[in-house]
Amino acid sequence: MTLTFTNRTALVTGAGRGIGKAIAESLAQHGVTVICVSKSADSCGATAAAIVAAGGKAKALAVDVADGAAVAKAAEELLKEYPVIDILVNNAGITRDGLLFRMSEADWNDVISTNLSSCFHWTKHLARPMTRARWGRIVNITSVSGIMGNAGQANYSAAKAGMIGLTKTLAREFAGRSVTVNAVAPGFIKTDMTTDFVNNPEVSAKILEAVPLKRFGEAADIAAATVFLCSEQAGYVTGQVFAVDGGMAM
Ligand code: NAP
Repeated sequence: MTLTFTNRTALVTGAGRGIGKAIAESLAQHGVTVICVSKSADSCGATAAAIVAAGGKAKALAVDVADGAAVAKAAEELLKEYPVIDILVNNAGITRDGLLFRMSEADWNDVISTNLSSCFHWTKHLARPMTRARWGRIVNITSVSGIMGNAGQANYSAAKAGMIGLTKTLAREFAGRSVTVNAVAPGFIKTDMTTDFVNNPEVSAKILEAVPLKRFGEAADIAAATVFLCSEQAGYVTGQVFAVDGGMAM
């Protein structure tokens, strides 16, 4: 099946590295114009430059997605240049792991604001033009931690579970306007976020005991699921959590 995109523009957060970079590059390969957001100008700039060098269309935008006022200002500027941003992928995320008794309030707040509140801010600003255009795709990158829980990740799993609730509610709110809202829940994927686990043979062997497919995933695995959910062909899919996790959360 060839996935189709009709003259679409996407904004991908956390596009500087890892999963977000793979999603941005894959959307661009399908002809989508991609606004690549990350915290540092260097990383989103490198992704946008790689897309343009490969013949695609991209723009880099450095914004701290945890800062609601900064997101509002960035969205306002973007909507002057692009009347509709048709596709929003909320992917930016961080971890600040620790058992609850040792978790600081700052670590709790940083993870909730970066991983969860960021989705509220971007969606609030970008979804209105989508609803007016009566076409839109929103994909929130959650985690198996948000489905199953994970000791040491109270902040992260709460944020990721919150993204699932947000996804299902917004799917209901926007369904009448043909704007779909779905979540992708990665398992353990090889990126900077998981380097410490993946490169530690003892830890990685323990993790893989819980993965039926017995391997770590690649950023491209998450990009494939996400790009499908953003395509024309996924127009009848909304409110779903698509686990791409080697079978962990089945
Ligand atoms: P990563 O390699 O650490 O990359 C994270 C990206 O998010 C970077 O581009 C980073 O920007 C950006 N980012 C972080 N905080 C930001 C902020 N405040 N404002 C703007 N951008 C910010 O992570 P990843 O592994 O690709 O993970 C991507 C998403 O998948 C995350 O939401 C993560 O929770 C989720 N996930 C990952 C795994 C996994 O195994 N890797 C599993 C489940 C879920 P800079 O480049 O500027 O630093």
